[in-house]
Amino acid sequence: MSKKILVVGEIRDGEFRNVSFEAIAAAKQIADGGEVVGTLLGETIGDLANEMILYGADRVVTVESDKLAQYTPEGYTQALHAVVEKENPEGILLGHTSIGRDVAPKLASRLKSGLVSDVVSMENDQGETVFTRPIYSGKAFEKKVIESGLVFATLRPNNIPALERDESRSGGTESLDVEIKDLQTIIKEVVKNTASGVDLSEASVIVAGGRGMKGEENFAILNELADVLGGAVGASRGACDAEYCDYALQIGQTGKVVTPDLYIAVGLSGAIQHVAGMSNSKVIVAINKDPEAEIFQIADYGIVGDLFDVVPKLTDEFKKV
Ligand code: FAD
Repeated sequence: MSKKILVVGEIRDGEFRNVSFEAIAAAKQIADGGEVVGTLLGETIGDLANEMILYGADRVVTVESDKLAQYTPEGYTQALHAVVEKENPEGILLGHTSIGRDVAPKLASRLKSGLVSDVVSMENDQGETVFTRPIYSGKAFEKKVIESGLVFATLRPNNIPALERDESRSGGTESLDVEIKDLQTIIKEVVKNTASGVDLSEASVIVAGGRGMKGEENFAILNELADVLGGAVGASRGACDAEYCDYALQIGQTGKVVTPDLYIAVGLSGAIQHVAGMSNSKVIVAINKDPEAEIFQIADYGIVGDLFDVVPKLTDEFKKV
């Protein structure tokens, strides 16, 4: 049975988060020939709406307001609620990002709907959408079906490939007027703490440092390796607690959950709470001087050695490629 699926696009600093396009590809899988409608909320959206069409949305509904210039829970919930009332979709997909994780449960509870969060894959099974999500810190996967009502799902970045951008795709864009009122949140300043321009949760390569880095200044060698690979730098909580880097870089159970193509774990032991945030990485490389370190149990490739020797050598070799 074909369905109408609404995909909520997310823009940061004037650019799409890639998970928005991944969500369009996922929506196409479950729409079963039905319509995929993109939606974008913001102050000025301009040509960005068309990008969703080039990545596979059939059409896009935008809500523009100066009150949507920055994300606020109340502003986005009101705007999205209006789009849902207008479109009346069967399903709504958002990225499993800070915004998606905040707004999806708010609106789902307002609409008395079901929500499946942190989805890594989804499929149609005889007209029902089956969502798969990791549980027990990534040690197992559960399959979920929402049997009635509107279905909300947040999609973990880097799990479902986006469709190729296709200039020949076309579709309509329409703007919806929504009066955004009673905002209780005022954003005074946005502070960014990522070491490189690459977003950690969407990076395809992550170089993560642990307590073995021994000092804040030594993260420079990780930044250099990450730069050469076009990746981002992450960290264990051990490194954050030791004040070698900001908590924004923490990966794990109480940090960010990442699924890069390549995860290079440097001088971190592989505690279960860290592994919870990165075990679904496609290829894991561990560098540790202790051959018994737990990280080697989940690594695809292990290098036993002193990170201060190994990391600069790797960087030099990658520079040659
Ligand atoms: P360590 O365990 O001290 O490991 C350092 C490693 O560096 C060692 O394996 C050592 O052999 C290696 N090393 C040292 N020097 C060198 C060298 N020169 N060359 C090569 N290798 C070297 N942790 C997280 O990471 N993320 C979380 O989200 C998280 N959440 C938690 C939640 C709770 C409720 C609790 C209780 C803990 C949580 N932790 C989390 C902490 C976790 O249990 C570990 O304490 C932490 O991950 C350890 O960090 P680490 O691996 O950097 O340090």
